[in-house]
Amino acid sequence: MKSEFLMLSLLILGPASPGNDIDVYLQPLIEELKDLWCNRLDTDNATKKETFKMYATLRSTTSDFPGYAMLSGYSTKGKFACPYCHYETGHRFLSNNNKSFYMAHRRFLDADHPWRYDTKAFDRETEERAAPEPLTGFEIEELLKDWKNNFGKLQPKKKNDGCPWRKSSIFHTLVY
Ligand SMILES: [Zn+2]
Repeated sequence: MKSEFLMLSLLILGPASPGNDIDVYLQPLIEELKDLWCNRLDTDNATKKETFKMYATLRSTTSDFPGYAMLSGYSTKGKFACPYCHYETGHRFLSNNNKSFYMAHRRFLDADHPWRYDTKAFDRETEERAAPEPLTGFEIEELLKDWKNNFGKLQPKKKNDGCPWRKSSIFHTLVY
């Protein structure tokens, strides 16, 4: 993480967040990544004093939770806010102040953990369900295979149909 090994690949002007439209700004970077994977890049090996063809891939991204939503297209708000638990997110709603809150954390404990059966300290219920299974890449690909993206602020807002996906991320266009 030393500065000499970091490259600024993209700068998006503010003041407003691009939201889902971040994919429009990412297009040139994604095109370069595709080129680096498919065509490789002539690169100097300073030690051997020769050139070689280098592959390059996007290995991971790092962002905060709102940034995660922007990059992945998965809404991190509301009923299915947890990308790990997805349709099994332990969402509850406080009607008095219109706030969502999230329970069911005990699902991640060992099956015999005493907290699972501690009704007094939690919500007066035992928790016997196993932890949710995260979606696989293949399942996400299947879910989004016919998805039509609409970018731009002038697009009509999509009605909330209970689906946690807001777009098929531009990262899905990478072959790996
Ligand atoms: Zn979760």
